[in-house]
Amino acid sequence: MPNQPTDIPAPTPPRSADVLVVGAGIAGLACARELSRRGIHAIVLEARDRVGGRLLNSECDGDVIELGGQFLGPGQDRVYALAAELGATTCATHRAGSNLIETGRGGLRRYRGAVPRLAPHVLLDVSAAQRRFERLARTVDPEAPWRTPGAAELDAATVATWIRRTLRTPDGRRLFTLACEAVWSCQPSELSLLHALFYARAAGSFDALISTENGAQQDHVVGGAQMLAIRMAEQLPGQVHLGSPVRRIEHSDRSVRVTTADETVWRARHVVVAVPPTLAGRIVYEPPLPPDRDALTQRLPMGSVVKCVAVYSEPFWRRHGLSGQATSLRGPLGVVYDSTPEHTGRGVLLGFVEGAAARAHARLTQERRRAAVVAQLSRLFGDRAAEPRHYVEQDWTAERWSRGGYAALFPPGVWTHLGPALRRPVGPIHWAGTETATRWCGYIDGALCSADRVVREITARLTPDGDHAVV
Ligand SMILES: Cc1cc2nc3c(=O)[nH]c(=O)nc-3n(C[C@H](O)[C@H](O)[C@H](O)COP(=O)(O)OP(=O)(O)OC[C@H]3O[C@@H](n4cnc5c(N)ncnc54)[C@H](O)[C@@H]3O)c2cc1C
Repeated sequence: MPNQPTDIPAPTPPRSADVLVVGAGIAGLACARELSRRGIHAIVLEARDRVGGRLLNSECDGDVIELGGQFLGPGQDRVYALAAELGATTCATHRAGSNLIETGRGGLRRYRGAVPRLAPHVLLDVSAAQRRFERLARTVDPEAPWRTPGAAELDAATVATWIRRTLRTPDGRRLFTLACEAVWSCQPSELSLLHALFYARAAGSFDALISTENGAQQDHVVGGAQMLAIRMAEQLPGQVHLGSPVRRIEHSDRSVRVTTADETVWRARHVVVAVPPTLAGRIVYEPPLPPDRDALTQRLPMGSVVKCVAVYSEPFWRRHGLSGQATSLRGPLGVVYDSTPEHTGRGVLLGFVEGAAARAHARLTQERRRAAVVAQLSRLFGDRAAEPRHYVEQDWTAERWSRGGYAALFPPGVWTHLGPALRRPVGPIHWAGTETATRWCGYIDGALCSADRVVREITARLTPDGDHAVV
């Protein structure tokens, strides 16, 4: 009998797959699903005990409420197609009625459409600036923003610089700042102008980013967007390993060895890292990554956002001719939407605290946060908003496996100095995730776009002329 203590388990031999995917967000799952359909054995290793990453459903009184990515809109063909394939339906964000704008001093005005009612000279200022932004955005090459004419100059400027130089009126500047906070969940001083232009270009236009009708907030998935991830994972039986944070990736030209936090070792021909760049930078690579790739992951922080949801016994604001959509220059919520689920009597308002306000909000106690948001909803929608049946918040800045949202920010200089390292594979390591998308970067659709590209990269290399043999 071997002299071996019984309480020390023998090391388990490495497990193997053709492709390992790090992260069961929408990008990682879409990638594994498509590879599997093509007969390539893919395993997904997910840090959390759930799938979906930045998509998160919760439940209140039997209704689904969404605490992460939610909306979709025209031009996001990949998400609509995926929803249809998975048997999910989409429905329009409620928008009948007037929207509200809360001024910095707390005044309220009603308006319709995407642009609040402002003094005529402010409106002229804002629309001229928007036209200029759209024109500049059309010059950006979404595949290679660093090749845009004047890229160095555009990437040396921040959105704050551009706002200061372009808009003449204080209210116009404030409105553009609010739009920046709403779209990128950061302050304009944190963001490269080139990145903001690229983002608009990748979405078709800036207007598409900020609009509900004909824009990125037009629709949502009935049952919540996380359902798309859950259904994809159901189609990958035994292939999605939850509670498996990847700590280490050892790589040679032809294979990878991936170790998770519990020391499980996996081997494969390729690995797809489908996590935000800042989290990709927390994995240990052996040998280390090329300096430009490593530098890139040191420079892409996540935006700061807290999503707040208040549930009422009914959508009472609709009876007062209000759509439930609001824009606030006073805060803490920057933007508010009616997120009432279909066919329930209840009413749901959701709002976002973004950028610097999110960081300040996150420092408050839970009680003070709730009080600040509910007080604002009452200013906007009246006394009935003061007593929600439920109030739920999701602070994405506190999420270990996201580190913020909606997506990564590109500060000045990153695109032009390090952009080519964003998608370039390093031997058998491929990079996916919405941050690597050339269409709808930062959005669910962008995550799917990145999965399509990585599947093409891998299948091209798994051809008979490529490195087909599997470990
Ligand atoms: C509050 C909020 C609102 C948003 N609103 C919208 C919206 O309305 N419309 C829209 O289109 N988009 C929206 N977004 C953005 C959208 O959610 C994201 O673009 C999309 O979900 C990103 O998917 P992904 O797969 O690229 O990354 P993620 O969803 O971040 O997935 C990455 C996965 O990797 C896992 N992971 C990280 N590190 C490791 C590791 N070391 N090992 C193993 N696993 C790891 C994470 O747990 C996560 O599951 C929003 C995001 C937030 C936060």
